[in-house]
Amino acid sequence: MDLRQVSVTNIKGIGDKTAKCLKKLQVESVSDLLWYVPRSYIRYPEITPVSEVRDGMTVAVCGTVNSDFSERQTSKMLVTTFSIKDANSRISSIHLEMVFFRQTYLKNIFRAGRTFVFYGTVKNKGFGYTMEMPEYFTCEDYERKKSSLQGVYPLTKGISSKTIGKHIQSCINEFFPVTDEFDAEFIKKNSLLSLSDAFRHIHFPNDMREALEARNTLVFHEFYNFLKQIEESKSKNTQCPSDYSIHDFSLSKRYEESIPFTLTNAQKNTLSEIREDLSSGFCMRRLIQGDVGSGKTMVAFLAMADLANAGFQCAMMAPTEVLATQHFEKLCKDNEKYELHLKPVLLTGSFTAAKKRAIYKGIETGEYNIIIGTHAIFQEKVSFRNLSLVITDEQHRFGVKQREMLSEKGNMPHTLVMSATPIPRTLTLTLYADLKISVMKDMPAKRLPIKSCVITPELRKNAFALIREQIAAGHQAYIICPMVEENEDIALENVTSYHEKMDAFFKGSVRYGILHGRMKPKEKNDVMEAFAKKDLDVLISTTVVEVGIDVPNATVIMIENAERFGLAGLHQLRGRVGRGDAQSYCIFINGSGKNSENERLEVLHKSNDGFFIAEEDLRLRGPGDINGIRQSGDMQFILADIIQDYDILMKVKESLDF
Ligand code: ADP
Ligand code: MG
Repeated sequence: MDLRQVSVTNIKGIGDKTAKCLKKLQVESVSDLLWYVPRSYIRYPEITPVSEVRDGMTVAVCGTVNSDFSERQTSKMLVTTFSIKDANSRISSIHLEMVFFRQTYLKNIFRAGRTFVFYGTVKNKGFGYTMEMPEYFTCEDYERKKSSLQGVYPLTKGISSKTIGKHIQSCINEFFPVTDEFDAEFIKKNSLLSLSDAFRHIHFPNDMREALEARNTLVFHEFYNFLKQIEESKSKNTQCPSDYSIHDFSLSKRYEESIPFTLTNAQKNTLSEIREDLSSGFCMRRLIQGDVGSGKTMVAFLAMADLANAGFQCAMMAPTEVLATQHFEKLCKDNEKYELHLKPVLLTGSFTAAKKRAIYKGIETGEYNIIIGTHAIFQEKVSFRNLSLVITDEQHRFGVKQREMLSEKGNMPHTLVMSATPIPRTLTLTLYADLKISVMKDMPAKRLPIKSCVITPELRKNAFALIREQIAAGHQAYIICPMVEENEDIALENVTSYHEKMDAFFKGSVRYGILHGRMKPKEKNDVMEAFAKKDLDVLISTTVVEVGIDVPNATVIMIENAERFGLAGLHQLRGRVGRGDAQSYCIFINGSGKNSENERLEVLHKSNDGFFIAEEDLRLRGPGDINGIRQSGDMQFILADIIQDYDILMKVKESLDF
């Protein structure tokens, strides 16, 4: 049975409501659910004596229910309270009260004299302590729970980690064993687990070693399927004759002469490789791998100009609306200024249905010849008149499957993939085996290298002073935080309340905006636009800005809790500055208090070369050194990380005889 085809509603206990919640997490099939692996794990703690609980502690206590059980109906809801005394000791004089909301069936459970383990966070209420909505267990159940790790899942509203765990357990009960791609001999030879065991252990491990072992097996499967797809795509697409061969490159030549800068040698070389492809009579399938700021967009525009001039359509797809909009606006400006006579249009998911329909029509009739947008471009409803080139920007966010889907849209269009992930060459050759590669190593001239430094949070005010100086000189700054909102469990800087820190220093003299992934596309666009137009001095953002935003006037980027990010990601973030003529600065704040972190971050201080950084990242981490179970999602892998899991990738490659 192919579990990718079986809807989660076939699992006992999952109704329409839960299915809807799960869909928000992109979990629709039984297979999706099994692959919905924990972000991290917790272990329920040893029992804390009631006499030792203090405000803010998250603890388990073992208590006997007192006889003060009460249910109160307030205007809003039913509130149930009762106090407990320590079941194992008589000395406790602390008053500890359990509080539950909207629970109607507790009377029969919490009878006076019964003993339970309560797990929750303690609050000091003056008259004593309370625990609101604690989890509760019988003592035997708690002992059992305590002996294994509990998965913590990335969540959405309306569903808890505990519920997800429960559904996965039913899924295992009903559907296991699952079909394995590998036979017993192969599994043994490569020291893997069976797929069924891997799922069991990733969700319900007894210890971390078991979880990591399961993770390695799942990573192996992910790489296997990925390389298989690449191989299929390669054999299908080699030397495929093209309907869109062109020999006239006059428009791009004129365009190139009009722009106020000269192309770098790398840009020129890449462009001539593209022209060769386009005139060869065969389909182009090419990857441009160029560090952030190397000027890939310009190359893409030049390539599209010639095909459009020949009467064909081109599509350029960006991973975010912000980025798509930015590309579109830039092209429109050039189009007008240099009289290129292109007919560009922007298409994103947030447009109204009516607006989209009008655009679809224009695409179908050929009224537009350059279509820039998000993956909305490749909705079923869009049909092109003569799609000759598909460009995907920042490809690592898309994945091979989408790459394939795009080519199927037209009649074998040329494809150009642009990636800013500077990965080591062996990796490139493996992951992009189906593409020819242009590497753009040099940066536009006149650029000053970015000055980087690593500091502790105590020196933040110096960084603020630098930002103030730069703003006074007419420039702008980014501040990056790892979290969207405050989180009680992890002490990391967050975007939402960061301005409190700034207000204390800047005293209201700066204009700042906030950007994060949970905002609506329209809100995100508005903020980005305001920043690009210089209506804002500082943009406080999560890593959503990582993906390609270009505001050359920004000269400072300060990254809070830099220890939380991989070197490659930090390098991408740094690439948001140093895009104009002015000197730019990048400040990494190491909030971990660990010196070893400084060492890792020093690599960034030493080098501005993304390729070098990627190699160092690989070397410094070493195999088997895992930051977390779930990785950043590069190349659309769920668990696998091409850098961290490099060894597994090579093993997969060796074990296959493609
Ligand atoms: P990336 O490769 O990261 O996508 P962009 O295409 O966004 O980089 O280019 C970064 C900036 O450099 C843009 O503002 C662009 O206009 C500018 N740029 C591109 N090519 C050159 C060049 N040859 N000389 C000077 N500036 C350039
Ligand atoms: Mg770019």
